[in-house]
Amino acid sequence: ALHDALVQLRGNIRVFCRVRPSKLAIEGPIKHDPLDCDALTVSTDSGVKRFLFDRVFGDNADQIDMYAEVEPLVLSCIDGMNVCIFAYGQTGAGKTYTMDGPDTNPGIGSRALIQIFQELEKRSDDVDFTINVSLIEIYNEKIRDLLDDSASQKLELRLEKDGKMRISNMSKCSVDSVAKVKEIIESGRKNRSVAATALNDQSSRSHAITMIEISMRDKASNSVCIGRLNLIDLAGSERVSKSQVSGPQLKEAQFINKSLSELGNVVSALRRKQQHVPFRNCVLTRILEDSLDGDSKTLMIVQVAPEKTSIQETISSLNFAEKIS
Ligand code: ADP
Ligand code: MG
Repeated sequence: ALHDALVQLRGNIRVFCRVRPSKLAIEGPIKHDPLDCDALTVSTDSGVKRFLFDRVFGDNADQIDMYAEVEPLVLSCIDGMNVCIFAYGQTGAGKTYTMDGPDTNPGIGSRALIQIFQELEKRSDDVDFTINVSLIEIYNEKIRDLLDDSASQKLELRLEKDGKMRISNMSKCSVDSVAKVKEIIESGRKNRSVAATALNDQSSRSHAITMIEISMRDKASNSVCIGRLNLIDLAGSERVSKSQVSGPQLKEAQFINKSLSELGNVVSALRRKQQHVPFRNCVLTRILEDSLDGDSKTLMIVQVAPEKTSIQETISSLNFAEKIS
């Protein structure tokens, strides 16, 4: 009962922090005590500040520990929930490692897909199910299909008759085996890096979204239930100084800054249960409106780099976390 009351109080939004292992031998400005699992301490010239989270993951935590905390959210999709998991942070802070990860030590995406598939297989006597995966990327407010080999495939966001936003012609790949999961992840990775080389490492400047739609039909009652899991590897949050860039890069930076701050506004409005949630201000929040609104669950994983050279960006990421907490 105490647990239920706590859940009620905190709502359906959680903010985690993950600190990438340091690339240097010397101690940096960020400290995390594994015994104090919800706090991060940052030392700057102006003093020491403590930032609080629902959970902090440091050097001592690996992909398995991370997934253990995410697992209940993934399982709630099988109960028909809509869930969004975001990775936020500057380029190099570990967003892709957390969401995707190396083949030898996979991140949230493939662990979640495999678990969803295996859980539903166990229930296949009672439930007919399909798991459809779409992979898209948002770059300069345009949507691209990462499952379509013709890498230039552009997708349109349309307002449907029921008042909901939908992406037209988006490819879907159905998961019917564990091997298929690997295949999907691999082709998404390939398509993302193809675009990255063509456009000079676009990957850090685009939002990549893995959309998993789980459709379940109860064989006895014939009732259908749909759950959704969206995994979002956000564009790098580094602030680009206006004097450093011009032309296309300036436009790109402005789109990223705008979409990340709009996302912050949306999550903050949801957390505070505000009447008006400003979903319509950018493509990212428009696409995810259905999955963020109402009885859904959101997790923001704020990734930070521990080195002193990253301190400004780290503080700006921690301020973002504080704003939505
Ligand atoms: P981002 O996607 O935020 O730009 P990456 O996920 O690409 O950052 O991480 C940058 C580098 O740090 C990569 O080489 C990645 O393998 C490594 N890395 C990130 N997080 C971890 C971690 N928790 N453990 C080990 N290596 C990590
Ligand atoms: Mg990345």
